[in-house]
Amino acid sequence: MAAAVRKMSLTLQVMLGMGLGIVVGLVFNAIGSDFIAEHVTGGLFAMLGKMFVNALKMLVVPLVVFSLICGVAGIGDIRALGRVGGKSFALYLATTAIAIAVAIALALVVGPGIGFDMAGVDTSGVTAKAAPTVWDVFAAIVPTNPIAAFAQGEMLQIIFYVIVVGVAALMLGEKSSGFVAACEYMNELMMKVVQIVMAFAPIGVFCLIAKTFAEQGIELFLPVLAYVLTLTAALLIHLFGTLMLILRALSGLNPLVFMRKIRPAQVFAFSTASSNATIPVTYRCVTERIGADQSVASFTVPFGATINMDGTAIMQGVATVFLANVYGIDLGVGGYLTVIAMAVLASIGTAGVPGVGLVMLTMVLGQVGLPIEGIAIILGVDRLMDMIRTAVNITGDAVVSTIVAKGEGKLDMAVFEDPDAGVMTD
Ligand code: ASP
Repeated sequence: MAAAVRKMSLTLQVMLGMGLGIVVGLVFNAIGSDFIAEHVTGGLFAMLGKMFVNALKMLVVPLVVFSLICGVAGIGDIRALGRVGGKSFALYLATTAIAIAVAIALALVVGPGIGFDMAGVDTSGVTAKAAPTVWDVFAAIVPTNPIAAFAQGEMLQIIFYVIVVGVAALMLGEKSSGFVAACEYMNELMMKVVQIVMAFAPIGVFCLIAKTFAEQGIELFLPVLAYVLTLTAALLIHLFGTLMLILRALSGLNPLVFMRKIRPAQVFAFSTASSNATIPVTYRCVTERIGADQSVASFTVPFGATINMDGTAIMQGVATVFLANVYGIDLGVGGYLTVIAMAVLASIGTAGVPGVGLVMLTMVLGQVGLPIEGIAIILGVDRLMDMIRTAVNITGDAVVSTIVAKGEGKLDMAVFEDPDAGVMTD
């Protein structure tokens, strides 16, 4: 048995870990033992899961820094860099806006939350966060102290700083060759470290999933089933419909092949509920399995993980309609347009970490005048919804990265068409 598992590809092992995690988690949930909750799911599993997520996060900053410097050096001219930046920024904003517009339309048709009884909902502990202005969001991209930005993992600031350094290296020309060669070596080294961490992925994923499913009882879902179903439907429509149509229309690539290639990253996003922690896996999928050149992906993947959150925006849309129905408030067209604008802006300004969607929701609700306490209603189901929307978020990042790479002539079709491409299938 153990030998058979060892022979499987890593991707399959991870998926097996996920499947087993769901089963074991649900069984533990049904047993309902305090001992298991304290020492197994809340103890051992929590520890191993946390170690794994920490290890993924540990990779993010060095990986982004070195691959991005190599990317800037590899792209060669500053105009091409500007084009990649401009295209990906526009596509990230457009896909997020489409995602939330479709989600609001669907939720308005389905009408979840009508007739919901607020009695018995504990609304203590929900606090609002003020919405940042467009100006604040953009001003915050420039770091005052790059070391602090690295230490805190401020992705947009890191990207900004590294690009400026990369451009400076390009301007110095020949003199930079030693620096670029050192970064290339560091980049290769980091990819090896990624591989080492990934070897533990099946266990890490199993623990994360088993813990979540053991802690999330089915009874949490029943009162808000209409919300959960509408949101899941909107997320799936975006994942399999909108995003794949956009991919097909703008790159001509086969969506089915793309979906198979990006699956490992989706599994990681689902397990960790963090686009940021998934960056190393998304990056590997986009470069090694889909065939995008490193010079494009090293920028678009971390950029997308930070500013592009289609799934999170969809959640904002469905949750706003749901809560407007619960409170019997009609937001009108203007209200929903505000929600769209706010969600797009908030997704630029916030990092891809677990639960950030709820924080964004407090900003959105505050902006359109809906009671923030309403969030308490959906709090219990948010972790599972977060897992699904994070998988959608990183798929959006990969779609845009692929489209931009294809448009720049930086997508290796031989890799895209090779079903065995990518070390993750070793
Ligand atoms: N967890 C999501 C992400 O990392 C953000 C969110 O929706 O809470 O992309």
